[in-house]
Amino acid sequence: MADKVKNLDELFVDTLKDLYDAEQQIVKALPKMIDQANSSDLKQSFKEHLDVTHRQIDRLDQIFKELKTTSKGKRCVGMEGLIKEGDEVMKEAADPMVRDAALIGAAQKVEHYEIAGYGTARAYAQALGHQNFAKMLDQTADEEGQADKKLTMIAEGHINAKAKTK
Ligand code: FE
Ligand code: ZN
Ligand code: FE
Repeated sequence: MADKVKNLDELFVDTLKDLYDAEQQIVKALPKMIDQANSSDLKQSFKEHLDVTHRQIDRLDQIFKELKTTSKGKRCVGMEGLIKEGDEVMKEAADPMVRDAALIGAAQKVEHYEIAGYGTARAYAQALGHQNFAKMLDQTADEEGQADKKLTMIAEGHINAKAKTK
């Protein structure tokens, strides 16, 4: 059974561990998404987000180090579900442009889930007086937001139109 969480300090660490595992799952999923993407701009934006994700993990590692605790111990079942759904919809798409549209939809769910998670973690950091951590978490939330906006631009720029019946 999971450990009991008694206060906001512990909830903060728990939330960070969950985010850490979520990012690890994304690092595993992104190469497959890069591989599956048909459009070069979509491939490129997934590649860029993989680099960004590594830096986000470094940022979390730094927080764990300063808190003198471990990043291990949590499985993010929310991210597991989002990635499973993404896999499913990717396999169902029989056309390359429809698959790109589906990949974008799946990726945007991931970004929004992360934005929510980092927003919560940032609020805890602030409540606990960890201004520096709050800033770092805010930077990550901002990067997830930028990734989300970029995906909207790609979808609305050409993919959705190309995925329609010709
Ligand atoms: Fe991330
Ligand atoms: Zn989670
Ligand atoms: Fe992300």
